[in-house]
Amino acid sequence: MTDDNNDWGFATRAVRSGVHRTNEGEHSEAIFPTSSFVFKSAAHAAARFGGTEPGNIYSRFTNPTVRAFEERLAALEGGERCVAFASGMGAILATGLGLLKSGDHIVSSRAVFGTITILFQNYFAKFGIETTFVPLTDYAAWERAIRPNTKLLFLETPSNPLTEIADIARLAKLAHAHKAWLAVDNCFCTPALQRPLALGADLSIHSATKYIDGQGRCVGGAVVGSEALVGKDIFGVLRTGGIALSPFNAWVFLKGLETLSLRMKAHSENALALAQWLEKQPKVKRVYYPGLASHPQHALAKSQQTGFGGIVSFEVEGGQAAAWRVIDSTRVISITANLGDAKSTITHPATTTHGRLTPEQRAEAGISDGFIRISVGLEDVEDLKKDLARGLS
Ligand SMILES: *Cc1c(COP(=O)(O)O)cnc(C)c1O
Repeated sequence: MTDDNNDWGFATRAVRSGVHRTNEGEHSEAIFPTSSFVFKSAAHAAARFGGTEPGNIYSRFTNPTVRAFEERLAALEGGERCVAFASGMGAILATGLGLLKSGDHIVSSRAVFGTITILFQNYFAKFGIETTFVPLTDYAAWERAIRPNTKLLFLETPSNPLTEIADIARLAKLAHAHKAWLAVDNCFCTPALQRPLALGADLSIHSATKYIDGQGRCVGGAVVGSEALVGKDIFGVLRTGGIALSPFNAWVFLKGLETLSLRMKAHSENALALAQWLEKQPKVKRVYYPGLASHPQHALAKSQQTGFGGIVSFEVEGGQAAAWRVIDSTRVISITANLGDAKSTITHPATTTHGRLTPEQRAEAGISDGFIRISVGLEDVEDLKKDLARGLS
Protein backbone atom coordinates (compact mmCIF):
# COMPACT_ATOMS: atom_id res chain seq x y z
CA MET A 1 0.00 0.00 0.00
CA THR A 2 1.49 3.35 -0.96
CA ASP A 3 0.34 6.84 -0.30
CA ASP A 4 1.89 8.60 -3.26
CA ASN A 5 -1.12 8.40 -5.53
CA ASN A 6 -1.49 11.94 -6.78
CA ASP A 7 -4.82 11.16 -8.46
CA TRP A 8 -6.60 10.52 -5.19
CA GLY A 9 -9.30 12.95 -4.11
CA PHE A 10 -9.37 14.51 -0.66
CA ALA A 11 -11.64 11.90 0.94
CA THR A 12 -9.54 9.02 -0.39
CA ARG A 13 -6.33 10.61 0.85
CA ALA A 14 -7.95 11.18 4.27
CA VAL A 15 -8.60 7.44 4.56
CA ARG A 16 -5.71 5.90 2.60
CA SER A 17 -2.62 8.15 2.71
CA GLY A 18 0.16 7.22 5.12
CA VAL A 19 -0.80 3.53 5.29
CA HIS A 20 2.22 1.22 5.53
CA ARG A 21 0.83 -2.20 6.35
CA THR A 22 3.13 -4.50 8.34
CA ASN A 23 3.63 -8.23 7.74
CA GLU A 24 0.78 -8.92 10.18
CA GLY A 25 -1.70 -7.70 7.55
CA GLU A 26 -3.59 -5.39 9.95
CA HIS A 27 -6.38 -3.39 8.30
CA SER A 28 -6.51 -0.52 10.76
CA GLU A 29 -3.18 1.27 11.18
CA ALA A 30 -0.85 -0.16 13.84
CA ILE A 31 0.41 1.84 16.84
CA PHE A 32 4.13 1.63 17.59
CA PRO A 33 4.57 2.46 21.28
CA THR A 34 8.32 1.97 21.35
CA SER A 35 10.95 4.49 22.35
CA SER A 36 13.77 3.00 20.25
CA PHE A 37 14.34 0.69 17.29
CA VAL A 38 16.67 -2.27 16.84
CA PHE A 39 19.46 -2.42 14.24
CA LYS A 40 20.69 -5.53 12.43
CA SER A 41 24.35 -4.78 13.15
CA ALA A 42 26.72 -2.11 14.37
CA ALA A 43 27.24 -1.00 10.77
CA HIS A 44 23.44 -0.77 10.31
CA ALA A 45 23.18 1.43 13.41
CA ALA A 46 26.01 3.61 12.15
CA ALA A 47 24.30 4.02 8.75
CA ARG A 48 21.01 5.06 10.39
CA PHE A 49 22.69 7.55 12.73
CA GLY A 50 24.88 8.88 9.94
CA GLY A 51 21.84 9.46 7.77
CA THR A 52 23.16 7.35 4.86
CA GLU A 53 20.23 4.98 5.40
CA PRO A 54 16.79 6.38 6.20
CA GLY A 55 14.75 4.70 8.91
CA ASN A 56 13.74 4.64 12.53
CA ILE A 57 16.19 5.49 15.29
CA TYR A 58 14.39 6.84 18.33
CA SER A 59 10.79 8.00 18.83
CA ARG A 60 11.66 11.56 19.74
CA PHE A 61 12.00 12.16 16.00
CA THR A 62 11.28 8.92 14.11
CA ASN A 63 8.18 6.88 14.94
CA PRO A 64 6.10 5.03 12.33
CA THR A 65 2.72 6.00 13.81
CA VAL A 66 3.68 9.66 14.04
CA ARG A 67 5.04 9.48 10.50
CA ALA A 68 1.79 7.95 9.21
CA PHE A 69 -0.13 10.90 10.68
CA GLU A 70 2.37 13.35 9.19
CA GLU A 71 2.11 11.77 5.74
CA ARG A 72 -1.67 11.81 5.79
CA LEU A 73 -1.91 15.44 6.95
CA ALA A 74 0.70 16.52 4.37
CA ALA A 75 -1.35 14.77 1.66
CA LEU A 76 -4.50 16.60 2.79
CA GLU A 77 -2.83 20.04 2.98
CA GLY A 78 -1.05 19.50 -0.34
CA GLY A 79 2.38 20.01 1.26
CA GLU A 80 5.63 18.16 0.69
CA ARG A 81 6.34 17.60 4.33
CA CYS A 82 4.61 17.62 7.70
CA VAL A 83 6.25 17.46 11.11
CA ALA A 84 4.02 16.69 14.11
CA PHE A 85 4.51 18.06 17.61
CA ALA A 86 3.28 17.47 21.16
CA SER A 87 0.87 20.43 20.87
CA GLY A 88 -0.19 23.25 18.58
CA MET A 89 1.96 25.62 20.65
CA GLY A 90 4.90 23.23 20.25
CA ALA A 91 4.44 23.45 16.48
CA ILE A 92 4.48 27.27 16.58
CA LEU A 93 7.47 27.38 18.96
CA ALA A 94 9.41 25.06 16.62
CA THR A 95 8.49 27.20 13.60
CA GLY A 96 9.95 30.28 15.28
CA LEU A 97 13.04 28.52 16.63
CA GLY A 98 13.66 26.77 13.32
CA LEU A 99 13.20 29.65 10.89
CA LEU A 100 14.07 32.81 12.83
CA LYS A 101 17.11 34.24 14.56
CA SER A 102 17.89 37.15 16.83
CA GLY A 103 17.25 40.44 15.01
CA ASP A 104 14.42 39.05 12.88
CA HIS A 105 10.93 40.53 12.97
CA ILE A 106 7.44 39.02 12.84
CA VAL A 107 4.23 40.71 11.71
CA SER A 108 1.26 38.90 13.22
CA SER A 109 -2.46 39.46 13.20
CA ARG A 110 -3.63 40.72 16.58
CA ALA A 111 -6.49 38.25 16.84
CA VAL A 112 -4.39 35.10 17.18
CA PHE A 113 -4.88 32.43 19.85
CA GLY A 114 -3.95 34.19 23.14
CA THR A 115 -1.03 31.91 24.02
CA ILE A 116 0.57 32.71 20.65
CA THR A 117 0.58 36.42 21.58
CA ILE A 118 2.35 35.55 24.83
CA LEU A 119 4.86 33.28 23.04
CA PHE A 120 5.76 36.05 20.57
CA GLN A 121 5.66 38.97 23.04
CA ASN A 122 7.28 37.42 26.12
CA TYR A 123 9.47 34.58 24.87
CA PHE A 124 10.57 35.26 21.27
CA ALA A 125 11.23 38.85 22.38
CA LYS A 126 13.70 37.57 25.00
CA PHE A 127 15.79 36.16 22.16
CA GLY A 128 15.71 39.35 20.10
CA ILE A 129 12.79 38.53 17.81
CA GLU A 130 10.29 41.38 17.81
CA THR A 131 6.65 41.14 16.79
CA THR A 132 4.32 43.84 15.47
CA PHE A 133 0.62 43.05 15.84
CA VAL A 134 -1.82 44.36 13.22
CA PRO A 135 -5.59 44.10 12.66
CA LEU A 136 -6.23 40.97 10.59
CA THR A 137 -8.11 42.61 7.70
CA ASP A 138 -6.24 45.96 7.55
CA TYR A 139 -3.91 45.26 4.60
CA ALA A 140 -2.36 48.74 4.73
CA ALA A 141 -1.39 48.07 8.36
CA TRP A 142 0.29 44.79 7.35
CA GLU A 143 2.27 46.60 4.70
CA ARG A 144 3.24 49.47 7.03
CA ALA A 145 4.40 47.03 9.70
CA ILE A 146 6.89 45.30 7.42
CA ARG A 147 10.55 46.18 8.04
CA PRO A 148 13.72 45.15 6.20
CA ASN A 149 14.26 42.44 8.85
CA THR A 150 10.71 41.03 8.68
CA LYS A 151 10.98 37.30 8.07
CA LEU A 152 7.55 35.96 9.00
CA LEU A 153 3.92 37.00 8.55
CA PHE A 154 1.64 35.03 10.84
CA LEU A 155 -2.15 34.89 10.89
CA GLU A 156 -5.18 32.90 11.86
CA THR A 157 -8.26 32.87 9.63
CA PRO A 158 -11.11 32.75 10.52
CA SER A 159 -10.08 34.61 13.65
CA ASN A 160 -11.14 33.67 17.14
CA PRO A 161 -13.69 34.64 18.38
CA LEU A 162 -14.81 37.30 15.83
CA THR A 163 -14.55 34.97 12.80
CA GLU A 164 -12.88 37.66 10.65
CA ILE A 165 -11.44 36.39 7.36
CA ALA A 166 -8.05 37.37 5.92
CA ASP A 167 -7.21 37.15 2.23
CA ILE A 168 -4.46 34.51 2.33
CA ALA A 169 -3.40 34.94 -1.32
CA ARG A 170 -3.05 38.69 -0.89
CA LEU A 171 -0.94 38.41 2.26
CA ALA A 172 1.19 35.64 0.71
CA LYS A 173 2.02 38.02 -2.17
CA LEU A 174 2.86 40.77 0.29
CA ALA A 175 5.12 38.43 2.31
CA HIS A 176 6.94 37.18 -0.77
CA ALA A 177 7.44 40.69 -2.16
CA HIS A 178 9.43 41.35 1.04
CA LYS A 179 11.25 37.99 1.06
CA ALA A 180 9.28 36.85 4.11
CA TRP A 181 7.26 33.69 4.73
CA LEU A 182 3.54 33.50 5.41
CA ALA A 183 2.38 31.04 8.08
CA VAL A 184 -1.35 30.39 8.48
CA ASP A 185 -2.84 28.84 11.60
CA ASN A 186 -5.38 26.58 9.87
CA CYS A 187 -6.88 25.19 13.06
CA PHE A 188 -10.44 26.51 12.59
CA CYS A 189 -10.92 25.35 8.99
CA THR A 190 -8.62 22.32 8.72
CA PRO A 191 -7.61 21.23 5.20
CA ALA A 192 -11.16 19.95 4.73
CA LEU A 193 -12.35 23.57 4.35
CA GLN A 194 -9.24 25.61 3.50
CA ARG A 195 -5.82 24.84 2.03
CA PRO A 196 -3.47 27.77 2.72
CA LEU A 197 -0.54 26.31 0.76
CA ALA A 198 -2.60 26.28 -2.45
CA LEU A 199 -3.36 29.97 -1.81
CA GLY A 200 0.36 30.79 -1.59
CA ALA A 201 1.13 30.43 2.12
CA ASP A 202 4.46 28.80 3.00
CA LEU A 203 3.29 27.02 6.13
CA SER A 204 0.00 25.65 7.39
CA ILE A 205 0.05 25.16 11.15
CA HIS A 206 -2.30 23.08 13.28
CA SER A 207 -3.46 22.49 16.77
CA ALA A 208 -4.55 18.89 16.11
CA THR A 209 -6.17 19.09 19.55
CA LYS A 210 -9.23 20.68 17.98
CA TYR A 211 -10.97 19.42 14.82
CA ILE A 212 -8.31 16.89 13.74
CA ASP A 213 -8.95 14.94 16.93
CA GLY A 214 -12.56 16.06 16.77
CA GLN A 215 -13.62 14.40 20.00
CA GLY A 216 -11.66 16.32 22.62
CA ARG A 217 -9.21 13.57 23.63
CA CYS A 218 -5.59 14.36 22.77
CA VAL A 219 -3.28 17.37 22.58
CA GLY A 220 -1.04 17.67 19.51
CA GLY A 221 0.09 19.90 16.65
CA ALA A 222 1.72 19.95 13.24
CA VAL A 223 3.42 22.14 10.63
CA VAL A 224 3.02 21.49 6.89
CA GLY A 225 5.03 23.07 4.06
CA SER A 226 7.94 22.48 1.72
CA GLU A 227 10.65 19.95 2.41
CA ALA A 228 13.16 22.84 2.46
CA LEU A 229 11.41 24.72 5.29
CA VAL A 230 9.73 21.99 7.29
CA GLY A 231 12.00 19.01 6.62
CA LYS A 232 15.21 20.78 7.61
CA ASP A 233 15.04 23.53 10.20
CA ILE A 234 11.62 22.85 11.74
CA PHE A 235 12.27 19.10 11.90
CA GLY A 236 15.68 19.93 13.37
CA VAL A 237 13.99 21.65 16.33
CA LEU A 238 11.89 18.53 16.94
CA ARG A 239 14.95 16.29 16.81
CA THR A 240 17.03 18.43 19.15
CA GLY A 241 14.33 20.22 21.15
CA GLY A 242 12.20 17.16 21.74
CA ILE A 243 8.64 18.50 21.51
CA ALA A 244 7.57 15.04 20.37
CA LEU A 245 4.04 13.78 19.73
CA SER A 246 3.27 10.42 21.38
CA PRO A 247 2.48 7.50 19.03
CA PHE A 248 -0.87 6.98 20.76
CA ASN A 249 -1.96 10.60 20.17
CA ALA A 250 -0.69 10.40 16.58
CA TRP A 251 -2.85 7.31 16.05
CA VAL A 252 -5.95 9.07 17.42
CA PHE A 253 -5.31 12.01 15.03
CA LEU A 254 -4.62 9.65 12.12
CA LYS A 255 -8.02 8.01 12.64
CA GLY A 256 -9.58 11.46 13.17
CA LEU A 257 -8.46 12.51 9.69
CA GLU A 258 -10.52 9.67 8.18
CA THR A 259 -13.77 11.36 9.20
CA LEU A 260 -12.56 14.97 8.96
CA SER A 261 -14.43 16.04 5.82
CA LEU A 262 -17.69 14.49 7.01
CA ARG A 263 -17.36 16.12 10.40
CA MET A 264 -16.40 19.56 9.07
CA LYS A 265 -19.40 19.47 6.74
CA ALA A 266 -21.72 18.57 9.63
CA HIS A 267 -20.16 21.20 11.96
CA SER A 268 -20.61 23.80 9.21
CA GLU A 269 -24.23 22.86 8.55
CA ASN A 270 -25.14 22.95 12.23
CA ALA A 271 -23.27 26.22 12.74
CA LEU A 272 -25.02 27.93 9.81
CA ALA A 273 -28.45 26.79 11.01
CA LEU A 274 -27.71 28.01 14.53
CA ALA A 275 -26.27 31.34 13.30
CA GLN A 276 -29.35 31.99 11.13
CA TRP A 277 -31.60 31.20 14.09
CA LEU A 278 -29.59 33.43 16.44
CA GLU A 279 -29.90 36.34 13.99
CA LYS A 280 -33.68 36.21 14.49
CA GLN A 281 -33.58 36.29 18.32
CA PRO A 282 -34.65 39.70 19.71
CA LYS A 283 -32.10 39.62 22.58
CA VAL A 284 -29.22 39.00 20.16
CA LYS A 285 -27.54 42.20 18.97
CA ARG A 286 -25.19 40.69 16.41
CA VAL A 287 -24.10 37.30 15.11
CA TYR A 288 -20.59 36.60 13.81
CA TYR A 289 -20.42 33.72 11.33
CA PRO A 290 -18.67 33.77 7.91
CA GLY A 291 -21.55 31.82 6.36
CA LEU A 292 -24.05 34.64 6.99
CA ALA A 293 -24.67 37.16 4.22
CA SER A 294 -24.36 39.84 6.94
CA HIS A 295 -20.72 38.86 7.63
CA PRO A 296 -18.37 41.60 6.29
CA GLN A 297 -16.09 39.08 4.53
CA HIS A 298 -18.78 36.60 3.46
CA ALA A 299 -17.72 36.77 -0.22
CA LEU A 300 -14.05 36.21 0.63
CA ALA A 301 -14.93 33.28 2.91
CA LYS A 302 -16.96 31.78 0.07
CA SER A 303 -14.10 32.02 -2.41
CA GLN A 304 -11.31 30.98 -0.04
CA GLN A 305 -13.03 28.22 1.96
CA THR A 306 -15.18 25.28 0.91
CA GLY A 307 -17.25 25.57 4.09
CA PHE A 308 -17.69 28.11 6.88
CA GLY A 309 -16.69 26.01 9.90
CA GLY A 310 -18.13 25.36 13.31
CA ILE A 311 -17.44 28.55 15.29
CA VAL A 312 -20.31 30.98 15.84
CA SER A 313 -20.09 34.04 18.07
CA PHE A 314 -22.83 36.44 19.09
CA GLU A 315 -23.48 39.41 21.31
CA VAL A 316 -26.48 39.63 23.62
CA GLU A 317 -28.22 42.72 25.02
CA GLY A 318 -27.49 43.30 28.69
CA GLY A 319 -23.74 42.76 29.01
CA GLN A 320 -22.05 40.20 31.22
CA ALA A 321 -25.10 39.35 33.34
CA ALA A 322 -27.16 38.50 30.26
CA ALA A 323 -24.31 36.55 28.66
CA TRP A 324 -23.71 34.53 31.83
CA ARG A 325 -27.48 33.84 32.05
CA VAL A 326 -27.41 32.33 28.54
CA ILE A 327 -24.35 30.23 29.43
CA ASP A 328 -25.69 29.09 32.82
CA SER A 329 -29.09 28.15 31.35
CA THR A 330 -27.59 25.54 29.02
CA ARG A 331 -28.08 21.84 29.80
CA VAL A 332 -26.66 20.28 26.64
CA ILE A 333 -23.81 22.61 25.60
CA SER A 334 -20.64 22.24 27.72
CA ILE A 335 -19.19 25.27 29.50
CA THR A 336 -15.55 24.89 28.49
CA ALA A 337 -13.00 26.82 26.46
CA ASN A 338 -12.03 23.95 24.17
CA LEU A 339 -13.37 23.83 20.62
CA GLY A 340 -13.57 21.53 17.62
CA ASP A 341 -15.29 18.76 19.59
CA ALA A 342 -18.31 16.65 18.63
CA LYS A 343 -19.80 18.16 21.79
CA SER A 344 -20.84 21.81 21.48
CA THR A 345 -19.02 24.16 23.84
CA ILE A 346 -19.85 27.68 25.04
CA THR A 347 -17.41 30.33 26.27
CA HIS A 348 -17.58 33.88 27.65
CA PRO A 349 -14.34 35.29 26.18
CA ALA A 350 -14.34 38.54 28.22
CA THR A 351 -13.94 36.64 31.52
CA THR A 352 -11.99 33.58 30.31
CA THR A 353 -9.84 33.41 27.17
CA HIS A 354 -9.53 37.21 26.95
CA GLY A 355 -9.83 37.90 30.70
CA ARG A 356 -6.19 38.93 31.07
CA LEU A 357 -6.59 41.80 28.59
CA THR A 358 -7.42 45.27 29.89
CA PRO A 359 -10.96 46.52 29.15
CA GLU A 360 -9.44 48.85 26.51
CA GLN A 361 -7.60 45.97 24.82
CA ARG A 362 -10.79 43.92 24.87
CA ALA A 363 -12.76 46.76 23.32
CA GLU A 364 -10.08 47.10 20.64
CA ALA A 365 -10.35 43.35 20.00
CA GLY A 366 -14.11 43.77 19.57
CA ILE A 367 -15.02 41.61 22.56
CA SER A 368 -17.77 43.15 24.64
CA ASP A 369 -19.12 41.84 27.95
CA GLY A 370 -22.18 40.45 26.19
CA PHE A 371 -20.08 38.44 23.73
CA ILE A 372 -20.43 34.63 23.60
CA ARG A 373 -18.55 32.07 21.49
CA ILE A 374 -19.95 28.67 20.59
CA SER A 375 -18.07 25.81 19.01
CA VAL A 376 -21.00 24.09 17.35
CA GLY A 377 -20.80 20.32 17.73
CA LEU A 378 -22.53 17.41 16.08
CA GLU A 379 -25.69 17.24 18.22
CA ASP A 380 -29.15 17.82 16.70
CA VAL A 381 -29.25 21.53 16.02
CA GLU A 382 -32.83 21.76 17.32
CA ASP A 383 -31.57 20.71 20.75
CA LEU A 384 -28.89 23.40 20.62
CA LYS A 385 -31.49 26.06 19.76
CA LYS A 386 -33.67 24.96 22.69
CA ASP A 387 -30.62 25.03 24.94
CA LEU A 388 -29.87 28.65 24.03
CA ALA A 389 -33.52 29.77 23.87
CA ARG A 390 -33.84 29.16 27.61
CA GLY A 391 -31.32 31.83 28.52
CA LEU A 392 -32.38 34.20 25.75
CA SER A 393 -36.08 34.31 26.74
C1 LIG B 1 -5.72 25.67 20.56
C2 LIG B 1 -5.12 26.52 19.53
C3 LIG B 1 -3.72 26.64 19.41
C4 LIG B 1 -2.77 25.98 20.38
O1 LIG B 1 -2.81 24.59 20.28
P1 LIG B 1 -2.55 23.60 21.52
O2 LIG B 1 -2.74 22.27 20.90
O3 LIG B 1 -3.54 23.94 22.59
O4 LIG B 1 -1.14 23.84 21.98
C5 LIG B 1 -3.22 27.39 18.37
N1 LIG B 1 -4.02 28.04 17.52
C6 LIG B 1 -5.37 27.96 17.61
C7 LIG B 1 -6.21 28.69 16.62
C8 LIG B 1 -5.96 27.20 18.61
O5 LIG B 1 -7.29 27.15 18.71
